Amino acid sequence: MSDRYAVIGNPVAHSRSPFIHAHFARQTGQALTYETLLAPVDGFAAAVDAFRVQGGRGMNVTLPFKLQAHAYATRLSERARAAGAVNTMRFESNEVYGDNTDGIGLINDLTGRLACPLQDSRVLLLGAGGAARGVLLPLLQAGCRGILITNRTASRAIDLATGARDPRVTGAGFEVLDGSVEAFDLVLNATATGLGNEAPPVPTHLLAHARLAYDFVYAARPTTFMRQAGAAGCACVSDGLGMLVEQAAEAFVLWRGVRPFTHEVYGLLRAQLDASR
Ligand code: NAP
Repeated sequence: MSDRYAVIGNPVAHSRSPFIHAHFARQTGQALTYETLLAPVDGFAAAVDAFRVQGGRGMNVTLPFKLQAHAYATRLSERARAAGAVNTMRFESNEVYGDNTDGIGLINDLTGRLACPLQDSRVLLLGAGGAARGVLLPLLQAGCRGILITNRTASRAIDLATGARDPRVTGAGFEVLDGSVEAFDLVLNATATGLGNEAPPVPTHLLAHARLAYDFVYAARPTTFMRQAGAAGCACVSDGLGMLVEQAAEAFVLWRGVRPFTHEVYGLLRAQLDASR
């Protein structure tokens, strides 16, 4: 019988994870099934318990359950502990291993598909929510020279920076960017503005001199942030589709011990998005 996996969330029907993992399984010859699991907002633990009793081997976790998954896990990876959130669980007898693959997914997309070296780079990280928390430790481990976290709510950026306990990380409100003469190699948009018509208020000259402007959101059309960066003359602009595929690949490695190739499924998903325009 095939091993069972799922993505749990609310809502979850839109998730591309079943498509991605089915592709990885075919490519690597792994016998598994992967489904979506819609849990009531107040029913996360009960839904996971039931899935485990039925023999489920692992899960991806999406909004709004990443913090609850962190509490549910009996053992955490270092990056899940640092993020305070879990997006991947592996079930083995009584153990629930919780990991967070969002950050390494971003790193792999930046350094692989986008060929953007991180060693010694200066990063402007916009946003201080769960996604920003998840990428902070992996960015530091990748050798970034400095990371300025800016957020609409300044206190959240300052708290996140303080919690990192690393002199390379500082936090502030967006207003610190006004008239800033500091230059950044990478500008990463980890705010939830992507799907609306908004973008974080980043001065044009900061975007113009960046090597890369990256939006964590992915969509059929460039986000407002991406359009602003492109218009400012930023050399390379990307959405977060590659991050999605790469975080899935890391989960697949954790579950199956085999690393899938990501290039093909990225191309298929991009074509699906293009066709939906
Ligand atoms: P979250 O925990 O809810 O945090 C939201 C962040 O966006 C906060 O920093 C919030 O600032 C900021 N924000 C919201 N509305 C804003 C606005 N109008 N102007 C400026 N800032 C605003 O969400 P999250 O989990 O971090 O996710 C953030 C985004 O990343 C989502 O769109 C998500 O889909 C995406 N994401 C993508 C991937 C991927 O694989 N590509 C993985 C993870 C997340 P305040 O603190 O001031 O509220």
